[in-house]
Amino acid sequence: MADTLDFGFHPNPDPMPADERAERLKDPGFGTLFTDHMAMVRYTEGKGWHDAEISARRALSLDPAAAVLHYAQEIFEGMKAYKQADGAIALFRPEENARRFQRSAERMAMPELPEQIFLDSITRLTEVERDWIPPQEGGALYLRPFMFASEAFLGVRPAKEYLYLVIACSVGSYFKADAPAVTIWASQNYSRAAPGGTGAAKCGGNYAASLPAQAEAIEAGCDQVVFLDAAEKRWVEELGGMNLFFVFDNGEVVTPPLTGTILPGITRASLIQLLRDEGLTVREEPYAFEDWRKDSESGRLLETMACGTAAVVTAVGTVKSADGDFTIGTGGPGQITRKMRDRLVNIQRGEAPDPHGWVKHI
Ligand code: PMP
Repeated sequence: MADTLDFGFHPNPDPMPADERAERLKDPGFGTLFTDHMAMVRYTEGKGWHDAEISARRALSLDPAAAVLHYAQEIFEGMKAYKQADGAIALFRPEENARRFQRSAERMAMPELPEQIFLDSITRLTEVERDWIPPQEGGALYLRPFMFASEAFLGVRPAKEYLYLVIACSVGSYFKADAPAVTIWASQNYSRAAPGGTGAAKCGGNYAASLPAQAEAIEAGCDQVVFLDAAEKRWVEELGGMNLFFVFDNGEVVTPPLTGTILPGITRASLIQLLRDEGLTVREEPYAFEDWRKDSESGRLLETMACGTAAVVTAVGTVKSADGDFTIGTGGPGQITRKMRDRLVNIQRGEAPDPHGWVKHI
């Protein structure tokens, strides 16, 4: 079965006029300004991956019995294409997204998309949509690869037909007004993932299940929710869409380990490397919520960083919970958070050397 495919190109006959696009790109927001095209590849059991194309972004027609609508076989990825100082366009560690997509597929009993088809779909779509990257600081093309079960049947078994697509949107900065630090809500009522569950997979269901907790966070005046482990409600796991790092006054940094209940973030992996490059000791080990409070109050904990593709690196300023609130450091971004954010952003934007070969020009 094919490990690579030729993508046919069918240009959108009715793209957004360039002047309207330029106007919209001035304030693209996040997740609403979609480009003119999408990539699509089909999978049929016995035949494998076929019919790869880049064509006009359009509505899909689905049988109401399509398995995804009933049993939620769906996975996705999120990544950005950046315009570099010299005008070149770059992706950040796209092969890591390809591999995580394969691991998510495996967990949801879906066929694995060959890495090269994933990379070609991303690259081809980004080439076609290069004019949709906002020119301003923090602007990027956000790429959303996803796959779902399209076979029409009712019955709990893996589907035999799937659609893989990539859509793209122009994005500005993720958090409103480039918030210097976020406030987060520690959910006591909801967990995100249990041992043996789907926490390490990027499947839509994880996010659906996180919504009431996120609603609680908004209700409490917070930006995001932080989840604790399901069993003991003791250990800090991750935010709804970002991983966490704790920076201590002795030069040590702790991040929760990948034990199957948190998403293995690509920003997380990159930060571990960059922190070690700085000579800091990074330990992947569990950190208790009560220690987070105690260490913030004693001043032993200097900073908490949240990281992910969308917002890159952000400081966690204040944590609120039913048992009371606490503030980390000054409540704003500390020295390490700022330094790491700059280091990563500069590598992504081609403004600093890329010692680990993470940036892929297209
Ligand atoms: N955790 C969760 C639950 C996420 O959805 C994301 C975003 N993909 C992350 C962490 C950060 O992952 P990455 O750095 O690969 O964007």
